[in-house]
Amino acid sequence: MTLVFDVPRGVAFVSGGLSGVQRRSSASVAYWLVARPPGSSKRHFKGGVSSLSLQTEVSRRAVLRTLVLLPVAVAMSSQVNAATATGGTATGSGTSLGSEVPVPPLPYPYNALEPVIDAKTMRLHHDKHFVGYVTKVNAALTEEQRKTFPSILTRLSTIPDRTVRETVRNQGGGAINHRVFFEIMRTPVADAQRNTPGGALGDAINRQFGSLAAFQKEFTQAAKTLFGSGWVWLYEVGKSPRRELKIGTFANQDSPLMQGNMPLLGLDVWEHAYYLRYGPDRGAYVDAWWRVVNWPAVEKIFETRQLP
Ligand code: MN
Repeated sequence: MTLVFDVPRGVAFVSGGLSGVQRRSSASVAYWLVARPPGSSKRHFKGGVSSLSLQTEVSRRAVLRTLVLLPVAVAMSSQVNAATATGGTATGSGTSLGSEVPVPPLPYPYNALEPVIDAKTMRLHHDKHFVGYVTKVNAALTEEQRKTFPSILTRLSTIPDRTVRETVRNQGGGAINHRVFFEIMRTPVADAQRNTPGGALGDAINRQFGSLAAFQKEFTQAAKTLFGSGWVWLYEVGKSPRRELKIGTFANQDSPLMQGNMPLLGLDVWEHAYYLRYGPDRGAYVDAWWRVVNWPAVEKIFETRQLP
């Protein structure tokens, strides 16, 4: 079905058979519109718009004509989304952005991880890649869903629209993976051997893997051999008193959260994480990375079971 909505300010939004229009609430006249540019299978744009008036049901020819407006609609949709942060609800006039998934600043200067990770890589990684993931997951989620981030990643299957679900999986995974990643690094210690976890986490690693060295060997091996882009995580499975630690590789931006497990320590092995300094030598990056692991931050996640 093809619908054209007339939003306040006279801008036409088009959903010309490109995707669905969902009525989100029977109590309010509120719709979400998802538009996908012709020829694109990946990108999607979403505007939460309240108090829409259904203008007309249009003919195929009119749709073709209206599609010319799509770039305008796409550009406007993000503005409308920002202007009506409560988009899709009956109180769509709100402008609060308080529910946005945040972009925490790096907890250290860009050059703090030198020489293990260079300042330029950190700047691009945080300000471009991370910001990009967060921006895109915010655009994909409703205000109510944003409030549940990152726990919504533990129940992706409840997101009915396949395109939205995939966006939340990829961009939302990127948002939480990087949030944790930046937090669990710090200025390098001179001797990687001396950078060790303590407390309950240190005990748990020894219990699970035999020793810290055995854990690091297995984790390092996983990072060096992961094919393509992805992550290696130390994560926790199960509930007390049967909490167990595991090492796992995750493709793309998948996260242990998506399996209902708690991420603790993650290593980004996407090329954008190391290529400027290390080129194709991922192994050198992985080996050096142990010097910047902020074990106290990992211990805090383990003990509080709270992500940063
Ligand atoms: Mn990354």
